[in-house]
Amino acid sequence: MSPMIELEAVTKEYEGVAALRGATATINTGEFVTIVGPSGSGKSTLLQLIGTLDRPTSGTVRVAGHDVSTLNDSQLSGLRANRLGFVFQQFHLTSGVRIIDAVADRLLYCGVPQSKRRALAGEALERVGLGKRLTHRPHELSGGERQRVAVARAIVSAPDLLLADEPTGNLDSVSGAGVMQLLGELHRDGTTIVLITHDRDIAASAPRSISVRDGVVSE
Ligand code: ADP
Ligand code: MG
Repeated sequence: MSPMIELEAVTKEYEGVAALRGATATINTGEFVTIVGPSGSGKSTLLQLIGTLDRPTSGTVRVAGHDVSTLNDSQLSGLRANRLGFVFQQFHLTSGVRIIDAVADRLLYCGVPQSKRRALAGEALERVGLGKRLTHRPHELSGGERQRVAVARAIVSAPDLLLADEPTGNLDSVSGAGVMQLLGELHRDGTTIVLITHDRDIAASAPRSISVRDGVVSE
């Protein structure tokens, strides 16, 4: 098994306040790991560092074999565009934009030609059960459907690693279960998944759970 994520003594301080105090963990390729812990404990900070959206104050973050500190901004953008997918609690869909375009535009930075982008976006939306809604706009969809669009946008680039920060946090239980089922299918297809969740049932059903408490990571 090869490591997808390696954290060594990672700390993160925001204006002198410690959000992470020395996180060490390895997540292997193909794992499905949940991150649990109280609000404010450092979960999102941890996911941001794994997602190379932020840099640690100290320590080493390795993602897909790259020591993140050795990559410049354009290399980091390339890593994110080609290898990573993100889903957040807020759906982050631009109002008024057709969902097929929202998903296709995710491929702008992946070197996919325009003619292929829409086809791939259509396939991704088909996969999340929205194949008949391609020209809908976000306000015409339910919360659960919007989060499916966000998942389609995250997976259209076929990421190796999907990072999800409380993706079911704004959903009713049925829609949340639908999103969880999608993540399970992606995992079975080989995607490494790291999921922050407050949902005890989801955390209990995951093969591995990492907890964060006051910036300290433990299994
Ligand atoms: P969680 O996701 O577990 O709720 P976070 O990682 O968001 O926790 O936050 C951990 C701690 O870091 C909190 O005390 C939070 O207030 C602080 N924090 C997070 N992001 C920032 C930021 N951008 N600026 C200042 N403090 C932050
Ligand atoms: Mg958070």
